[in-house]
Amino acid sequence: MLVGIPARPGGHDPVRWRAWAVAAVLALGACGDGGTGPATLDRAPAPTTTTVTAPRDAATTTTAGPATTTTTAEGLVVAEAQPATPTCPAVPAQARPDPDRPRYRLDLVVRPDQGTVDGAVAVTFVPDLPVDRLVFRLWPNGPRTARAGARLDVGEVTVDGRPTPAGLADPTILDVPLPAPAGPGEAVEATVAFRLRLPGAVNDRLSHDGDAIRLGSFFPILPWEPGHGWALDPPTSAFAEASTAPVADFDLTVEVPDGLDVLASGEPAGPGRWRAVAVRDVALSIGRFTLAAGVAHAPEPVHVTVGVHAGIGESPDAYLERTIRALEDFARRFGPYPYPRHTLAITPGLSGGIEYPTHVMQGPATIGRTTSHEVGHMWFYGLVGNNQGRDPWLDEGLATWAEAGFEGTLGAMRNRAIPAWARGRTGEPMTYWESRQSGYYRGVYVQGAQALAALGDAGLVDCALRHYVARHAFAIARPPQLIASLALVFPDAPERLGGFGIR
Ligand SMILES: [Zn+2]
Repeated sequence: MLVGIPARPGGHDPVRWRAWAVAAVLALGACGDGGTGPATLDRAPAPTTTTVTAPRDAATTTTAGPATTTTTAEGLVVAEAQPATPTCPAVPAQARPDPDRPRYRLDLVVRPDQGTVDGAVAVTFVPDLPVDRLVFRLWPNGPRTARAGARLDVGEVTVDGRPTPAGLADPTILDVPLPAPAGPGEAVEATVAFRLRLPGAVNDRLSHDGDAIRLGSFFPILPWEPGHGWALDPPTSAFAEASTAPVADFDLTVEVPDGLDVLASGEPAGPGRWRAVAVRDVALSIGRFTLAAGVAHAPEPVHVTVGVHAGIGESPDAYLERTIRALEDFARRFGPYPYPRHTLAITPGLSGGIEYPTHVMQGPATIGRTTSHEVGHMWFYGLVGNNQGRDPWLDEGLATWAEAGFEGTLGAMRNRAIPAWARGRTGEPMTYWESRQSGYYRGVYVQGAQALAALGDAGLVDCALRHYVARHAFAIARPPQLIASLALVFPDAPERLGGFGIR
């Protein structure tokens, strides 16, 4: 039982809850400066190329058909084992999510007129290693968004129902010592009250531009890497590229002023409420949306909704069509899309796209490669997670690979020049790219796709990626695990990838 968490916003005593939440907020201090240069969003390339669908490279077509799937009791679609084909070794049955994954309840009251989000997170966490503390990452306090005016302040923290002192090890790290150590398999229940002060209109995952609000990487979240422990990678000016989180279940409630729409991760579960199963984060977009909805067969039905915020002179229809086709293409290439829903919000002032599990944020006029790239992240980052601070190429290189196959741009991508100082450095962490952001896209995204292309036939690379997804679905992978999957099909993968700086 969770003690110390306030009543749900919009529940039986919302006024009291609000008073409590405000009173509980402590000023824990804004973060310091640090980091310069542009955000490393998934930007559309400049100059932009045509946005109509190009025919695919012959080399990138895949012979894989839809995998045979099973729908779990929790509604997740997972692949069954696939027999060997003349070119692809038998793929094992897809891994299932850890039954001891964290369970979150996240309650939010959004007040656009005040530029605030008052919230409370309650989580049940079952570590697989001994722990003597809990860690929550406070990504809005990372240098880039803090500089833009965002601030995440934490109020009362409880552990197993008792108020517990907590401190900041860094503006982005809330350290909560446990009253007593917890062993593997022992559940710890914690609550954190918080107030998020929104920045203004920012070209990033946190933004507040009139009625259009983006909420991504915005609440206290456990950066646990099963088998390894807390991921304490330093924030960089591309703060969300440091995120690492295990899949978890989320019960989300959101209160917004009348007339505003919400598109969020997960499945609607009543007015102002969503439920997301086995996802590593949740995000939402708020606005006045013109909506379009359809169904992708990836291969099971996936309900897709696209919303375009009022004032952006675009139709949601083309984004919907492209998202559906990308979901279906990647399900054939990499394995089924596991969730029943996918949403995309087009909101102002964003020059590319930002991926969250089952929810993507994109800016105006990003119908081109951004749309397929972000859908690619549903497999690489969403389904198979990674430490985005330590191994940014692991999701960006693979999402770019997915994108290139869909867009028919692999040939062009292989021919793109990589700056000499970024060549052979694909595997570097975000701290390396922090001071070299002009080469980040080419060094990590393009070079990551080039490294895979260097292995051989694109259809065989997709086969190896089906193995990678099957083995590491719902988990957090590290580079040696991808290399091992690639080596099943390309025995010389370790040497070849080593030449690109991937080890
Ligand atoms: Zn990306």
